[in-house]
This record gives sequence, structure tokens and C-alpha cells, in this order.
Amino acid sequence: MTLTGAHLVSGHWRRSEPTFTAQNPQTGQALGPAFCEAGGDLVEAAVAAAGEAFAATRSLEPGWPATLLDATAQRILDLGDALLDRAGQETALPRGRLVLERGRTVGQLKMFAQIVRDGAWLDATIDTADPARQPLAKPDVRRMAVARGPVAVFGASNFPFAFSAVGGDTASALAAGNPVIVKGHPSHPGTSELFATAMLGAIESLNLPRGLFALLQGRGNELGAALVRNSGVAAVGFTGSRRAGRALFDLAASRPNPIPVFAEMGSLNPLIVLPGAIKERGAAIAKDLAGSILLGSGQFCTKPGVILMVGNPTEFLSSLEGHISAAQSVTMLNQPLRDAFLSRVTQWKRVGGVSASAIPEAMGHADTRPLLFQTTAAVFLAEAELREEAFGPAALVVRCDDERQIAGVLSKLGGNLTATVHASASDNAAPLVQAMESIAGRIVFNGYPTGVEVCNAMIHGGPFPATTDANSTSVGAAAIRRFARQVAYQNMPDGLLPLALRNANPLKIVRNVNGELTTEAIGG
Ligand code: NAP
Repeated sequence: MTLTGAHLVSGHWRRSEPTFTAQNPQTGQALGPAFCEAGGDLVEAAVAAAGEAFAATRSLEPGWPATLLDATAQRILDLGDALLDRAGQETALPRGRLVLERGRTVGQLKMFAQIVRDGAWLDATIDTADPARQPLAKPDVRRMAVARGPVAVFGASNFPFAFSAVGGDTASALAAGNPVIVKGHPSHPGTSELFATAMLGAIESLNLPRGLFALLQGRGNELGAALVRNSGVAAVGFTGSRRAGRALFDLAASRPNPIPVFAEMGSLNPLIVLPGAIKERGAAIAKDLAGSILLGSGQFCTKPGVILMVGNPTEFLSSLEGHISAAQSVTMLNQPLRDAFLSRVTQWKRVGGVSASAIPEAMGHADTRPLLFQTTAAVFLAEAELREEAFGPAALVVRCDDERQIAGVLSKLGGNLTATVHASASDNAAPLVQAMESIAGRIVFNGYPTGVEVCNAMIHGGPFPATTDANSTSVGAAAIRRFARQVAYQNMPDGLLPLALRNANPLKIVRNVNGELTTEAIGG
């Protein structure tokens, strides 16, 4: 499949100047073709088309997102080796990982299609009128979730499929009924274009409004900022650094009409190994923990980055160190990420009281070596830079005096996506679970935080700085809620209500009617 290097706006491939090229992280060589960088005119065009498409969806049958998501999933599979080849060249991720991630991406699209068909996510809630109520008549009030409007989605560098052009944010925003304008990540523009061709093919085959999906490519902060500033954009989905997520959040808040930004940013993901667990199965934990730290070359937002333990369990630590240093070299997603990683761990190493293996000076283009650092709770608490994420194959072991000190360290960590505890029956994990609850969106027991299950109950979120909305998730069924808002209709004639709230329940969805869950019609 030949790539164009163009943007997708309103169903047309549009070109612009200047251009940039992708780079192969393994070799540093440029990967053709030249990709166009979008300017303000294309942002305007894409948002205007999205606004028109949003208006047009009002006259479509309510299940249109389900049909679109299912059709897109099939077209992604139809891309076959072309998608896997290009993504491999642009990201250096192994084929096996890409095949798995494609499965997850297609699975997410199908999951959201099913959620749309099921209709329960709308949270349709009806309180019927009681005109005879004294002293005041009770009105008929009905509420449900409605789409927000055009959503800007920022593709993530570390999930070129599952959190990029047609990843979880795009799928959940479309499922809720919103058009999507994607700002492709400049690290894998060819992969993004291939996903856009799949989405366009699905839109055309179903004759849906062409403005439902746009892809804008580019490098430099101005494109993303212009998108977030545009008054036609109603919400933002983002995965990436705290610096960028916070900048976009502040920009959105300073608009004359502020909008929500659902940014999923960095996380330290503390993992506690209690003494009983080390005694019971220390060797297995050391091996599996190293595997979790190194999964995806440490480029997962759920990587356990801070490992907390009581005392100095030397055998366990030397086993962990051995597993980490066994991997001599890894290639990261791009050179800037590798450089940011080396700069962060160099800062760590300069702190007195931190020990580590040697930091590599010069390696291949985006290559580095896995590293394990160690320090004490006192040093960790005193040195703020040790509490900054090192995005890459490294973790910091923090040795604490006792469980109380571990709880104290947790309380100073700020918001996290996950927190994990390994305990045996002889350990007292309960106070730590409570401490983890106040800082994390997901608490893992005797397991590892990497490998986020895409399911109904999942929360992949957490208090700031893990996200900009502590009550949101970007993985799992509940992700759809971010891109809708609740509207109440009072004393509305049946014919003016959305189908989901009409007396006859024509969509046959589960609704809460006067406090009871039912699929029955009202008054039927
Ligand atoms: P990033 O720098 O946050 O960039 C993500 C997206 O935001 C890109 O499209 C970027 O494009 C855009 N952007 C960045 N700063 C912006 C700004 N001030 N205004 C508007 N748009 C902006 O993330 P990255 O490139 O993937 O990696 C950098 C760092 O992010 C990593 O070292 C890591 O610490 C962190 N990260 C975290 C996660 C996570 O899962 N939480 C995932 C990936 C990366 P432009 O640069 O073209 O503007």
C-alpha cells in the first residue's frame, strides 16, 4: 500500500507545506514518504467538517457508531502485513507485540460497538410525573448521556495501534457519537495514515458523513495547540508526557469556553514487596518483576518504576538486578525518548545516596541498557527528582525501615495509575491497601501492573498527575463516559424525546424507571 504523506480532512487527502519524515529508530534512517505538516487552515477545515458531521448524525439511526466501529475493525485487519511492516519500521516494536496490539485495538473497537448496541452506557433514567403530588406536582424528568461534539485525540507514541489514530480514545469518542480529529504522533506517521485509510474506507462504505474522522499530521506544539484552542472542539483525549498534557489542559481551561481534557500522563506505579512475600516466593517475584519493568523496553505508562521494600533483602535485590542487567541493550521508540530517558537516569545517579550500574555513554541510534537504581526512603523523600518518572527500562528500589515508612512514602508520591502490593498471609497488607487507595486508580495484589485488561470494570486513570480527571479511565468500557454529558429533559412530549427515553423504549435498552432497572415500555 502506497502512503501519500497527506492529511485526511472531510474524506479527502490534503497536502500542505512544510514536510517531515519518519525515522527508523533502529538505524536512524529516514523513512519515506515526506509527510505534510498541517497549519491553522487545515485545523479550521477539519473542525468545521467535524461540526457539520456532528449535526448530520442527528438524523442517522442511533446505532451508527456501532456499525462504523465494526467496519473499521475489519478494515484494520484487512491492512494485513502492510500495517505490521510499517509500524515495525517506525517503532522498532517486535512483530509479536504488534500482532498482540492489533488484536487489542480491533477488540476495543468491537467492544465499543457492542456497548453502543447494548445502550446501558447511556444511563437512561426516567422519573415519571405525579401531577397529584402535594404540595407541588412532580414533573416528568428523564436524563441520558449525549455526545459532546468534535473531540481532538492525540495519538500516543508508545501504543502505535491501541492508543494512536484509531485507538481507545478515538473508539470511545466515536462510540459516544462524536466526530474525531486526530493529531497523529510524529514518531509513526505512516502507521497513523494506514489507520486513517481503514477508517475512511469504513465511513465511505457506510456512506456516513466524511467529517466524522480526520487525521492531521505534524511536528511541533503549534498544531496540537491550535486544535485545542479551536472553539469548535468540545473535548480532548491525550496520552503522553505530563508537560504536554498539562500544557493542553491549561490551554483548554483558558479558552473563552473551557473544555475538558482527558490527559493520561506519567506514573511511578509504586510496587511494594513485603517481607513475607520475599520469603515465600522471592525468586519468582524478582524474575517476574524484572519482566514487568522491561516489558516494551519499559515504555509503558504502567511500568513499576518505584519498588518499595522493608530493610535490605540482599538476595532478592541481587536476583532482581541480575534479571534486569541480563538484557544488554534495547531499542526505544525514538531517539528523543531515549535521550530523555538517559537524561532522567543521569539526574538520579548524581543524587548522593543512590547506587546504580553504569549508565551507557554511547549506544545505537535509539538504544539503551536496562538499569536498576537503589536508595533509601530518607533520600527518596528528600530529593524531588527521584520522584520523577524515567520513561524507559529502569526502576528505582527504595529501602524503607518498616511498613509505616512505606505508607509515608506512598503518601508523598502524588497520583498514580496503579499501585501494587506483594504480600503473604504473614504480612499485614491492609493499611497499605488503604494508603494506595488515596493515590492510585488501580490497586494490584500479588501481580504486576503492566498488561491492562480491557474490560468493563477497568480503571486506567488516577489522581493528578496521572491524569487531569481523577474520575476518568482511558481503558475499558467506562472510557466512553468521558466523551458524553448528561442531559435532563423535563415534561418533554414523547415525540421530542431521544429514542432512548421514549415511553415505548424502541431501542429496547435497560433503563432506570422510577428507581427500577427494566427494559419494559412505560404505560404499555
Ligand atoms: P509528548 O511529548 O507528551 O507528546 C505527545 C503529543 O503531544 C505529540 O503529538 C506532541 O506533538 C504533542 N505535544 C507535546 N507537547 C505539546 C504542547 N506543549 N502543546 C501541544 N502539543 C504538544 O509525548 P511523547 O512524544 O510520546 O514522549 C515524550 C515523553 O512523554 C516520554 O519521555 C514520557 O515521559 C512521556 N510519555 C508518557 C506516556 C504515558 O503513557 N503516560 C506515553 C508516552 C510518553 P508535537 O511534539 O509535535 O507537538
